[in-house]
Amino acid sequence: MCFDYIIVGAGITGITAAEELANVLDKKVLLIDKREHIGGNCYDYLDDNGNLIHKYGPHVFHTDNTHVYNFLSLFTRWNNYSHKILFKYNDTLVPVPFNFISVDKALPEDSEEIKIALIEEYEINEKIPIRKLVQSENEHIKQLGNHIYEIFSEHFKKLYQIGDDELSEFVDKMFPFRMSYDCRYYNAMYQVEPLHGYSYMFKNMLSNPNITVVLNRDYNDLIRIDYENKRIFYEDEEFNGHLIFTGMIDEFFKYKYGELEYNSLILENEEINGKTFQDNSVIYYPNQYHLTRVTDYNYLSGNTLDTTVVQFEYPVKYDRNDKEQNIPYYPIDLKRNRQLYEKYKKLSDEFMNVTFVGRLAQYELLQMDECVEIVLDLINTKFSEI
Ligand SMILES: Cc1cc2nc3c(=O)[nH]c(=O)nc-3n(C[C@H](O)[C@H](O)[C@H](O)COP(=O)(O)OP(=O)(O)OC[C@H]3O[C@@H](n4cnc5c(N)ncnc54)[C@H](O)[C@@H]3O)c2cc1C
Repeated sequence: MCFDYIIVGAGITGITAAEELANVLDKKVLLIDKREHIGGNCYDYLDDNGNLIHKYGPHVFHTDNTHVYNFLSLFTRWNNYSHKILFKYNDTLVPVPFNFISVDKALPEDSEEIKIALIEEYEINEKIPIRKLVQSENEHIKQLGNHIYEIFSEHFKKLYQIGDDELSEFVDKMFPFRMSYDCRYYNAMYQVEPLHGYSYMFKNMLSNPNITVVLNRDYNDLIRIDYENKRIFYEDEEFNGHLIFTGMIDEFFKYKYGELEYNSLILENEEINGKTFQDNSVIYYPNQYHLTRVTDYNYLSGNTLDTTVVQFEYPVKYDRNDKEQNIPYYPIDLKRNRQLYEKYKKLSDEFMNVTFVGRLAQYELLQMDECVEIVLDLINTKFSEI
């Protein structure tokens, strides 16, 4: 075996690491993934009609980090794309994060009083936490806060399959109210989609012959860990290089302290005749239906095809023993999970020959740009010294 690094997981984290190790540090890299494709949850593909579909749900690249944007620009050209989302609540479509337009749509009878109260109390362009609105002494602002809180509560309960008792932990994750008419979902400087899709960009990132990609293989079939002596074996031979692990940290430690919780999704695609199916790329349904959201892919890809693909997204609990729901999508950011993760983190710190990085290994809902940023930092620091 002649690899300097083995990377478990060919998502954006593992791919960025493989690319940089091979191209910048001239290392030999083995990249393993149990799925049949590269790209992890950012994977996309063209269907028979030329529609670009994001298999695991819609992904929009957004960042304020010019270094990250320039780095990925080496592997793709971009489409400018300003993402907007709408929540359909009690049959009204409302832009989220909430802003002045959302107030007009959601609470039309009281919107003038609410907006006057907001302008008297806060600065234009300020972002006001929902908690602050709910606690306001002004009755109009409080009314708005309670309304937004109700909508987001329904959303989080459904998405994460949590109960009322756990909701308080999510209040600070509710998008703050924006004192503006800006309906874009993200405020980031760069909001783009790769011109030919994420998979195309990833393929370019992995073109160095120093990178070997093995798909359809669970790392457990190839790698054995001697936990006591912190040694790693690849196909029964001791591996003296460095392991980069981007899979689930609890799986790495054989669930020694118990399982971290995730939500999972069931995604159903339907091809529709016509350029678009709905009034926006993504519409969420916090209360009416079992589904969380519907995505219309022609908006995301900028296609001008006569058909579009619509994706219906249903939330389910992650269960590693159930084929229908064994993909971990969102870590469930509850105190009990953070405490459990800290126990695994402590164990992982003892493995000097393993780096745990990425959404699953850090048990954090990292955005794509954050994954890239973390890896680029590691390349300049830790990995350049190994
Ligand atoms: C529905 C959804 C929408 C999102 N939308 C956005 C968005 O719009 N913008 C944005 O910036 N971010 C978005 N994100 C976040 C984005 O998906 C993550 O930032 C990114 O996928 C994390 O990459 P990763 O490589 O760390 O993890 P992953 O993409 O999960 O990759 C991990 C890889 O490890 C592999 N693996 C796991 N276990 C094993 C094993 N035992 N053996 C072998 N391989 C294994 C998996 O198969 C997977 O390919 C979204 C996330 C979700 C779930």
